[in-house]
Amino acid sequence: MKPRQQEGIGMTSQRTRDRLIARLQTRGIHNTRVLEALRVIPRHLFVDEALASRAYEDIALPIGHKQTISQPYVVACMTEAIMQENIPSKVLEIGTGSGYQAAVLAALVDQVYTVERIEPLYLQARRRAMRLGLHNIRFKLSDGCWGWEGYAPFDAVVVTAAPSEIPSALTDQLAENGRLVIPVGQTSGIQKLMLLRKSRGSIEQENLGDVSFVPLVQGKVYT
Ligand code: SAH
Repeated sequence: MKPRQQEGIGMTSQRTRDRLIARLQTRGIHNTRVLEALRVIPRHLFVDEALASRAYEDIALPIGHKQTISQPYVVACMTEAIMQENIPSKVLEIGTGSGYQAAVLAALVDQVYTVERIEPLYLQARRRAMRLGLHNIRFKLSDGCWGWEGYAPFDAVVVTAAPSEIPSALTDQLAENGRLVIPVGQTSGIQKLMLLRKSRGSIEQENLGDVSFVPLVQGKVYT
């Protein structure tokens, strides 16, 4: 990739990106590592070129296949939630989508594992990570309701699509003192963003507020 493309111009310039970071701070994101990760990952390279000029607005954007790249504020909230006490080393993400949340995590933790059910999104996200030199992300085309048993346990799990109930495989694959952040609720409408902590085998839950995600759907899709 040409350096100019990564740096961005005009609506994707560093100044535009810094404005987004300032907005996230105003909205209550305080973790400086998280803010820095969002500052350095070029969100405009995770959306279609036609939408690049809107990439640093604090909004979700379409990525095809009826899916969306999450709003930067929500990405920051979820990332902050799993980093409250210490920095996790191994993180599992369910719902790769554009690969943006995985890239933000990859800037912060040792190893990211991410699972996507729609093949073209999985392939595109993998290509993007390679181009950006993000070598600490492993991608899998699968139904994320099953987690990724081969690499469990995880210090943290981030789910970016909403089930009506939390899949038990995800809490099972959480390490002791691990954290799981997940939107839970009916497939359409408003979900609750839940933060779960595993402590001595039992699970504590905290409600972080209302969010709106695409549904977590079972099964793989090849198109
Ligand atoms: N984290 C993404 C947001 C993607 S939207 C980003 O940063 O861009 C949610 C994604 O979850 C979609 O790509 C959708 O296909 C995927 N998804 C939905 N159900 C899934 C499942 N059971 N397993 C894996 N991925 C799933």
